[in-house]
Amino acid sequence: MEWVCSRCGERHEGLPDLAYDAPDYWAQLTEEERAQSVLEEDLCRVRSVEGSFLYVRGVLELPILEADELFAFGVWGSLSERSFERFVQLFDDPRRVDEPPYFSWLSNSLGGYPDTLNLRASLQVRALDLRPAVVLEPAPHPLSVDQREGITLERARALVEPALHPSG
Ligand SMILES: [Zn+2]
Repeated sequence: MEWVCSRCGERHEGLPDLAYDAPDYWAQLTEEERAQSVLEEDLCRVRSVEGSFLYVRGVLELPILEADELFAFGVWGSLSERSFERFVQLFDDPRRVDEPPYFSWLSNSLGGYPDTLNLRASLQVRALDLRPAVVLEPAPHPLSVDQREGITLERARALVEPALHPSG
């Protein structure tokens, strides 16, 4: 699926996922706080002066209206200690698909939207080869509306263009 970029005028192929390497809070930690915290590929445990916080990496998907495809943000969601322990315990267990959704706060502010930090969400664990789905609670926030109603291909391209051209 090639398309012409409005930033550089070149053709780009496909739509890359927009992924965040850590929950936004990670960037605000002091060196000392970071030293007593852990950031892995799929898990993050923070111990800061404000307390203990647990996060897992998931995928927030938006349906694309004209295509039978999903646009994906790689995001972090917070979990309670109990949910986090369940998540870790079942990480390699195929039966994890039977888990009920865990309550989560969206823990990244996504580009192209009004602040999305701490939107209410649920985190649905999926099959072993998939990261959990982050599903926002129905709300008037544009990201929640987009997840329920879908976005146009044009909008999806506009969302990825800044990521393809980080300097401009
Ligand atoms: Zn471009």
